[in-house]
Amino acid sequence: MREIYLDNSATTVTCKEAAEKISELLTEKYGNPSSLHAKGLQAEYEVENARKVLAAHIGASPDEIFFTSGGTESNNLAVIGAAAAHKRTGKRIVVSAIEHSSVLESAKYLEEQGFDVVYLQPDGSGRIREEDIIDAVDEKTILVSLMTANNEIGTLQPVSSIRRAVKLKKSPALIHTDAVQALGKLDLKQIRSSVDLLTVSAHKIHGPKGTGAIYIKKGIRIIPIIHGGEQQKRIRPGTEASELIAGFGAAISALPDIREGHKQIAELNDYCKQRLKAINGVYINSPEDCLPYILNISVCGIRSETMLHFLEAHGIYVSSGSACAKGKKSHVLSAIGLDNKRIDSAIRISFSRYNCAEDIDCLCAALESGIAALAKSK
Ligand code: PLP
Repeated sequence: MREIYLDNSATTVTCKEAAEKISELLTEKYGNPSSLHAKGLQAEYEVENARKVLAAHIGASPDEIFFTSGGTESNNLAVIGAAAAHKRTGKRIVVSAIEHSSVLESAKYLEEQGFDVVYLQPDGSGRIREEDIIDAVDEKTILVSLMTANNEIGTLQPVSSIRRAVKLKKSPALIHTDAVQALGKLDLKQIRSSVDLLTVSAHKIHGPKGTGAIYIKKGIRIIPIIHGGEQQKRIRPGTEASELIAGFGAAISALPDIREGHKQIAELNDYCKQRLKAINGVYINSPEDCLPYILNISVCGIRSETMLHFLEAHGIYVSSGSACAKGKKSHVLSAIGLDNKRIDSAIRISFSRYNCAEDIDCLCAALESGIAALAKSK
């Protein structure tokens, strides 16, 4: 049976370039990047090279890049680290209600520590209104955190316009964006230039799990959440995961041209939508103008997990809502006002450059037989 992997927003297959680089470091260049001997220098060179590659990709300077264990840690560091550094200026933090749990739970933790957190609600397409950002921000706001692209439905957020809101309200707020779902899919240079802090993760772009990074704009102060060690200017101490970091660099270097890649996936997404619209009982939950790499649908009357396992039996891998919220009702689909029937039957299809139209044909055929079989057995 052919394997059809359509769960690329959960994680991606490691590309050949990254796998080879990781293997090279594991078996040959295995020194500690902090060691003073040649083996250490070899590993340090690889880490610094990856830092340069990521910096160039997002239009930053290498000394603004700090490697972490992934998106979750980078988001914790951004939210908690910024709040700790600026709590004397104010205690107000603004986040969207549809952030990834690593931002929402960090915000909740801060709320328990006495911070005042404002959760912005999206409109029906999952977008946060610019007016709401302006309304929420004030002179006591120290952080605004808004994701670049939503991981469940793909909605793009007006991140570049936060700076205007902050200026307008004479707010000292730092701006953070979780760009985990946008790296490699959108040109992040413009977004990067409009924020102070930006989160990325390797395993969503065909790199390894367990590494990611945070961009911290020069001059911006945040307090570390991990202590001990001199590495990475003490912002993120601990021996660098040189194998994974080098693999991350290789995955970035192997990315196709962003515009070309986007075009390929937009065509695939259009084709998929067209085919899905012809199937009775399928509803599209993603908005029209979202990131084409994500397509959230509902197959009314059939629970997400039931359909997920039916598709799996046909060699097709998708996600029920978001992989990080296993079994929980999606806070994103609830926030955009979908009814329980639509939420309980939601499936997230997410594409990568390795997918093709034939994958979509197989998915649609399996969905149709799933609807016929599962509806009958009810
Ligand atoms: N932020 C978003 C938007 C995500 O989709 C994810 C992972 O699903 C994360 C953060 C967490 O990243 P990581 O898996 O690298 O911890």
